[in-house]
Amino acid sequence: MEVRVNPEYCKGCRLCVIVCPHRVIEEGTELSEKGYIPPIVSHPEKCANWKRTDKRKAVCEMCILTCPDHALEWDEKAGTKAEAVEE
Ligand code: SF4
Ligand code: SF4
Repeated sequence: MEVRVNPEYCKGCRLCVIVCPHRVIEEGTELSEKGYIPPIVSHPEKCANWKRTDKRKAVCEMCILTCPDHALEWDEKAGTKAEAVEE
């Protein structure tokens, strides 16, 4: 699964960029309709949860827990289901 940024809520504070231990999220370059610059999930395959398909079994949620605007969410369908972690 993959972290997704909701540009409707993101205020471009960059906290998620700073907190991610695997550098999954990078600074963005494009202005949102709200007038902020949301980050980009540029390396989703590096996320600790990339091979997981159930957000209840996430082993890291640092970015989601840190975001003050609840702008990050899981897309459980993204990622390599064929190699999904069995738990
Ligand atoms: S869940 Fe953890 S590893 Fe994955 S993007 Fe968020 S902070 Fe980075
Ligand atoms: S922490 Fe939340 S509000 Fe801040 S840049 Fe990341 S997604 Fe946007």
